Amino acid sequence: MTPAASAPSGAVPLLELRGLLLPELEALAARLGEPKYRGRQIARWLYGRGVDEIEAMTDLPQELRVRLSAVARISAPRLRRTQDAGDGSARKYLVVLADDQAVECVLMRFEDGRRSACLSSQVGCAMGCAFCATGLSGFSRNLAAGEILGQALMIREESGTRLTNVVFMGMGEPLANFDAVLRTARVLAAPWGLGIGMRRLTISTVGLVPQIYRLARERLQLTLAVSLHAPTEALRDRIVPVNHRYPLAELIPACRAYVRETNRRITFEYVLLDGVNDGPAEARELGRLLRGVHCHVNLIPLNPVVGIPFHRPEIARVRTFAAIARRAGLPVTVRIERGTEIQAACGQLRLADGQGRPSRWTPTPVPAARGAVR
Ligand code: SAH
Ligand code: SF4
Repeated sequence: MTPAASAPSGAVPLLELRGLLLPELEALAARLGEPKYRGRQIARWLYGRGVDEIEAMTDLPQELRVRLSAVARISAPRLRRTQDAGDGSARKYLVVLADDQAVECVLMRFEDGRRSACLSSQVGCAMGCAFCATGLSGFSRNLAAGEILGQALMIREESGTRLTNVVFMGMGEPLANFDAVLRTARVLAAPWGLGIGMRRLTISTVGLVPQIYRLARERLQLTLAVSLHAPTEALRDRIVPVNHRYPLAELIPACRAYVRETNRRITFEYVLLDGVNDGPAEARELGRLLRGVHCHVNLIPLNPVVGIPFHRPEIARVRTFAAIARRAGLPVTVRIERGTEIQAACGQLRLADGQGRPSRWTPTPVPAARGAVR
């Protein structure tokens, strides 16, 4: 079961309900001497309705609600502030957790009707990628599954919209918080949970090789996105420090194994940094590196972050890079990030609120261009 919530000293810690899987809720019902179907009722309140108090579960007998409250609780993040993209395509939320730490999450609205939530999995991040604001502020702690789910439930409630997709691309490295993230994915996907479906979930990783093999063994139908950012060891060492630990020579075989095991195409993310990794030579090198890997490449022109010594390349340079990579046989799309003007990159709102340093999610004046460009 998930870790028990903290309680006043001397008291028995209360079990955190958010984050429990259906079989665990059914087991809890059984422990309370109740029929199994009570577990499903509780799941419907927790995830279908998103209630944040046991008292609100009105189809449970009152005395059961009292007994349940004696052993369990629901903790929900508090919303501190929101920030909207001017065109309504994205809204960013700064949420505060029980220990007063803050994380960000984002709702992205797409013209085709998709509503995608971008969730944080850690407070801060220990990976220290050179261009990332979250990495700059260091690592504080992992989020519990209930805290990750709480972001999705809060977005759904606040926006009054059904979520069609979820991406683990907010603050933190999801695979460094493996169990909580997997648990969250299962709840998000399940019909008894948020009902989103595994195929509509994406986990983005900086490339933790052992966890990629571990995830492959789960054989889930979710999308794995790997943050590559450089086609050679020397360059990747410079901008993604974890490459010293898990070099491309190990990462790419792990990605191939992931594809073999799951039959799912892998996504590679490549943030373009002006004059650093965005030249024709790197585009050709990328083609060589990924030859024969069943993949999709997402080119992301850097979302500028205050205090970070990298720049977003001109669009012409981006197009040239994309064209060369395509000629090398790679399926490539270019993504101008949604919500750039709301600093819709993890950590930026948190910074603006005086906690931590700016991230790619913090408002800076930006060019008008948005949406996918070819
Ligand atoms: N830690 C995970 C997931 C969170 S970051 C990972 O690194 O994959 C999600 C994506 O945003 C990653 O591809 C990351 O490299 C990218 N990113 C980080 N900072 C950025 C910035 N300033 N501009 C554009 N993309 C950025
Ligand atoms: Fe962490 Fe991802 Fe940022 Fe790297 S890019 S520091 S892994 S959140």
